[in-house]
Amino acid sequence: LGETLKRLWKENRRLARQSTTDDLTGVLNRRGFFTVALQFANLAQRNKSLVGVMMIDLDHFKSINDRYGHNIGDLVLKKTANLLSDFLRSSDIIGRYGGEEFIVMLPYIDSSSLGIIAEKLRRIIEENPLEDVQTTISLGHAQGLLGDQFEEDFQELIKKADEALYQAKASGRNRVVEYRPQKNNSFPT
Ligand code: GH3
Ligand code: MG
Ligand code: MG
Repeated sequence: LGETLKRLWKENRRLARQSTTDDLTGVLNRRGFFTVALQFANLAQRNKSLVGVMMIDLDHFKSINDRYGHNIGDLVLKKTANLLSDFLRSSDIIGRYGGEEFIVMLPYIDSSSLGIIAEKLRRIIEENPLEDVQTTISLGHAQGLLGDQFEEDFQELIKKADEALYQAKASGRNRVVEYRPQKNNSFPT
């Protein structure tokens, strides 16, 4: 019986891990990311700590696939995830948000550090290509305190980081943009 229990326990743990991590890159998948991140969001709300979110998207990844093939594309994704995770602290939470898009939550930052970390990540990717496959990322980031509605507030931060990512793409890619509230254009000045 002891052996059976042990086997079941191991199998259970394997399944739990499988359902929360991304097979290709080894980072958390979307479900895993939110499971972990929301626990940290709750803690951050209670500790009133500043939370940072980064949305990271590989630039022109479709052309990398087209030019080098899907298998090389996969390797580029894997390498990118490794480079990002290696630089981040183990207390930062990284997930694969979509195909070639990653999300990072930093549960305890001071206000000046997020942009610096983001810029380092951008540079690490640029400077460490997989052989001759030049790869760059665009990165949008946002930071804030979470209130009682910590889930909604966290989602709001993600939305802001995503808007900043969109700006980074629109302004030329391979760059970092911090979320800034857009000027309200509905009233003539
Ligand atoms: P942009 O700079 O605007 O982000 O351009 P892009 O080409 O990166 O963006 P687009 O959304 O047009 O294409 C994303 C591509 O990522 C298309 C899709 O085939 C590829 N992709 C998504 N997931 C995977 C994957 O797991 N492996 C590989 N090899 N490619 C993937
Ligand atoms: Mg892309
Ligand atoms: Mg994308």
